[in-house]
Amino acid sequence: MTTRWQTEMAEAVRDPRELLALLQLDPAWLEPAKRAAALFPLRVPHAFLARIAKGDPRDPLLRQVLPLGEELKDVPGFVTDPVGDMPSLAARGLLHKYQGRVLLITTGACGVHCRYCFRRHFPYAEETARAEEWREALDYLKGDAAINEVILSGGDPLSLSDERLAALVRSLEGIPHIRRLRIHTRQPVVLPSRVDEGLVGWLKACRLQKVVVLHANHARELDAAVRDACARLRGTGATLLNQTVLLRGVNDTAKALSDLSEALFAAGVLPYYLNLLDPVAGAAHFDVPEAEALALMTELRAGLPGYLIPRLVREVPGAPSKMPVLPVLESGGG
Ligand SMILES: *Cc1c(COP(=O)(O)O)cnc(C)c1O
Ligand code: SF4
Repeated sequence: MTTRWQTEMAEAVRDPRELLALLQLDPAWLEPAKRAAALFPLRVPHAFLARIAKGDPRDPLLRQVLPLGEELKDVPGFVTDPVGDMPSLAARGLLHKYQGRVLLITTGACGVHCRYCFRRHFPYAEETARAEEWREALDYLKGDAAINEVILSGGDPLSLSDERLAALVRSLEGIPHIRRLRIHTRQPVVLPSRVDEGLVGWLKACRLQKVVVLHANHARELDAAVRDACARLRGTGATLLNQTVLLRGVNDTAKALSDLSEALFAAGVLPYYLNLLDPVAGAAHFDVPEAEALALMTELRAGLPGYLIPRLVREVPGAPSKMPVLPVLESGGG
């Protein structure tokens, strides 16, 4: 049976010409969009498209999905595997970088293609833990009692069917030392119809402690349908957090970040990480320098309660955790 969200996902806009026409944008964007989309395809669900203003090439939601000529530029320091995922593969589709928790790449598919994505060059075809291959990852988990949390990631794990997810989660529940299930997903934001009865059913029934980490970058992504989806997720007993990528032209002002924190809290979601952009080839035009990011954090802290301040972090290949990005304190001596 095809569910409504699966139909909506299949009907996502993939043709740059269609995107420009629907949003009443200058056809001059077409040629570069086609060239950039040849490297990393365009993909935007209509539910997300509806939140983009028409006729505004600088719309912060549009910037996240419109392929640009800038993506073709070769910029020194921007590489294909910026976070060093490849050396951390513990089993097929399983990344074990940090103590106590592992990340399972359940699928390469996403509901939306974010132009800044650090996985835009990831060889999903080879390294995704496809259903028949979850066995290897599950065996690894069973064999290491120090692992207490499994993160379903991708791609977007919620682009998989509920049947497959429910089966995977049942296998995880059967491993006694696994206490927490974490889901990293952008689907409830870009395709809120994904949070349907099927999803709510297996998630609510899951005996593990549940954390859903959403991915929204701008307050305008959180419309009424997304707030409803968040309410349904909270109804399963899941804790809702959000991670954001700091992006030039999208959320690189204290006002944009503050509005995002407020909109998240209104939806019952707490800000978790604000990630500096991973230096992935094709995304250099989104980069915000560290000094500027720190200045934004100072402004943000001055205007919001502490619980609405995300942690500014960056991914450092080989580091034991996401690395906090902190101001350098003037030291008095020594
Ligand atoms: C980001 C990440 C995690 C989760 O890190 P937290 O700090 O616990 O959110 C776990 N494993 C991998 C491989 C990651 O990239
Ligand atoms: S949803 Fe996440 S994994 Fe998928 S393209 Fe966007 S940032 Fe990348």
